[in-house]
Amino acid sequence: MKNFYGMTKDELCNYLVENGFKKFNGKQLYEWVYKKQTTEVSLMTNISKKLGAFVRDNFSFKGLTTKTHQISSDGTEKFLFELADGNSIETVLMRHNYGNSVCVTTQLGCNIGCTFCASGLQKKKRDLDASEIVMQVLKVAEITKERVSHVVIMGIGEPFDNYHNTMKFINIINDPFGLEIGARHITVSTSGLVPKIIDFSKEDKQVNLAISLHAPNNAVRSSIMKINDVYPIEDVIDAAREYVNATNRRITFEYILLENINDESWHADELSNLLRGLNCYVNLIRYNTVSEFNYVGSSEDRAQRFHRRLLERGITATLRREKGSDIDAACGQLRSKKGNL
Ligand code: SF4
Repeated sequence: MKNFYGMTKDELCNYLVENGFKKFNGKQLYEWVYKKQTTEVSLMTNISKKLGAFVRDNFSFKGLTTKTHQISSDGTEKFLFELADGNSIETVLMRHNYGNSVCVTTQLGCNIGCTFCASGLQKKKRDLDASEIVMQVLKVAEITKERVSHVVIMGIGEPFDNYHNTMKFINIINDPFGLEIGARHITVSTSGLVPKIIDFSKEDKQVNLAISLHAPNNAVRSSIMKINDVYPIEDVIDAAREYVNATNRRITFEYILLENINDESWHADELSNLLRGLNCYVNLIRYNTVSEFNYVGSSEDRAQRFHRRLLERGITATLRREKGSDIDAACGQLRSKKGNL
């Protein structure tokens, strides 16, 4: 049995052709499942009996099980979903004035080891396959009965450490016969895996790229992100430049503001020098407390001072209003869980 949600439309069409069906049958099935949201073969009025029987015998539509569902005071919702193997993952829905955005998880745990992040407390157990990532979006839409217009690949895990499944996921949700989530409404976030940033710059997609920078120099970055010892900051910026040159797209840098660690005025100056001339945007995020760590988020005053300093030096930046921190659904607060709860 193949999990339907893990197949791109091309894979589905090829599989059907190999089994004696027509290529357009793949498009029909995609439309039924993703657009008309039915997996019930008897309702698929334009497919033959033979194809219906083939679908029943060869495809599984097994989804995720909802273990918990929390709603924040700001409307953000967090879901704990159980996977077929008994492990659980967290997924977040954020409501914006431009639409609903789902933040998906790509791995069970994470090996990158950012020292401020709850998601990395559990070492990576395995990658999620594409179907497990797609099903997070479907399940949130099914539960809320609302359209998901945006997707951010920023939940638990490093998406570029699961590159193949992340790209497949993007393909599936972007497909015009499927969920049709526009490439420009999809953002993938990496901790800075340089070779994969280069690979990504060669993909023919208009998907947004965000890099978690969180520091203006190697000393600070290495102290909070171990990955910086493998891919130092200058290599990350070079890769970002290559991405911008290859795609003609603006790149986003995520910067979590940690009091007295990376939020001094001279850090803002260093950051402006580092990014000067690069078509980029800095997304400043005040750190959300995680009970296991001693870090403190920058005060509103310090965060605003840092923000102003960047703007004064010609760097485009916003200070983001955090969503869902009261239900531990904000950046760096998600966790994967083992076994039964
Ligand atoms: S911030 Fe992202 S990359 Fe870093 S440990 Fe957390 S989940 Fe992994």
